Amino acid sequence: MALRHFERMSFDFIHENPDLEDELEQWGKMPEPSTEDHLFMLRVTTYDRVAERLKKAALELKKSIVAETWGSSGQNVADFSLYSGALGTAFLLWKSFQVTNDAEDLCLCSEIVRACDSASLGSRDVSFICGRAGVCALGSVVAKSMGDNDLMDCYVIKLKECCSSKPTPMGLGNWNLDLSDGLLHGRAGYLWACLFINTYLGTETISPVQLAPVIDKIFSNGRKLGRKGGSPLMFQWNGKNHWGAAHGLAGIMHVLMHFNLQENQQKEVKETLLYMIKKRLPSGTYPLCEEEKGDLLVHWCHGAPGVALTLVKAAEFFGDKVFAKAAVDAGKVVWERGLLEHVGICHGISGNAYVFHALYRLTGSPEFRFKAKSFACFLLDRGQKLLAEGEVRGGDHPFSLFEGIGGMAYLFLDMVQPATAKIPAYEV
Ligand SMILES: [Zn+2]
Repeated sequence: MALRHFERMSFDFIHENPDLEDELEQWGKMPEPSTEDHLFMLRVTTYDRVAERLKKAALELKKSIVAETWGSSGQNVADFSLYSGALGTAFLLWKSFQVTNDAEDLCLCSEIVRACDSASLGSRDVSFICGRAGVCALGSVVAKSMGDNDLMDCYVIKLKECCSSKPTPMGLGNWNLDLSDGLLHGRAGYLWACLFINTYLGTETISPVQLAPVIDKIFSNGRKLGRKGGSPLMFQWNGKNHWGAAHGLAGIMHVLMHFNLQENQQKEVKETLLYMIKKRLPSGTYPLCEEEKGDLLVHWCHGAPGVALTLVKAAEFFGDKVFAKAAVDAGKVVWERGLLEHVGICHGISGNAYVFHALYRLTGSPEFRFKAKSFACFLLDRGQKLLAEGEVRGGDHPFSLFEGIGGMAYLFLDMVQPATAKIPAYEV
């Protein structure tokens, strides 16, 4: 079943009017919030002014998210994951620290990561988004920011242990487990954790020698399900050959393109993506999997948004215009059908807004910055009201980063620097 989406906004592009808001206020004609007039006013307000307002809203949201997910839990971590649990709150605090430089955010972030470290000891999930690797990766980067090099090194060792082929002090030895290859739970998710660490701590903190077996294993698995004349690589999740960012081709190809691939591996990634473009649905979106070609989903996890972000990366990686054009095409679908009835990152409006940030980076066109601003303004104007009325949903975890208002707050903070805004745990 598709998630319902709101009608797309009525104007594709409106020129900003720096004086309108002041004039309306002066004449006592300020529109009521959650009305078309109010949303229009926000969208024509200059970018910097709206970004300031979004930042203020984000910092308020952050307070209630911390209170609900950390303060009210008695600081016991029932769900440690970045996706729906405490690590998502820590990641939001890390973003907040980057924007405001408030040391309290960094300290609280570190405290939550420490609790997640204890809570994830028995986890068999090795990914950044759902597994222990996310805890260790964020922990090391935050420790570095706090100037605690011993703690940083400790978390790096723990990250390596997550995928050690030998039994570890945690009793894991996950590399021998029958892992999937996807981003949310599998090898690509572990690689992303290594990528995050290498970005912030130095490119060879996790060395290419350590990463090569993981990359090779993904390719050898992908080839088993790939076929001649079709996609050279294919991966299964829950018995289906998925295409999306969370479990399938889009997510796995996206992660692989961040590493030094061999020539034949690059060719396989390129041909896989060209296969997806060729087989996209007539509406321009992308199917859930090989087996289901229904034109239903326009989410980061499944459908055009996640694929669009991967195609932006492919345009940069291969320097081929075919990927840039396909990314822009996917962006059109997100603009038409991307105002979903969820607010979060995974299958909500916030995740979809990041497609426009990525296209803005790729093309430099102000059209895309405006579209990202429009989605954020929609959330600012009526997100909370629609949530309260049940018109949009926060999922099973309404304060979380990937399903709830944590994602909305993260997006609002990212609007301050649109040129560097990147969807959490996917772009780095
Ligand atoms: Zn989702």
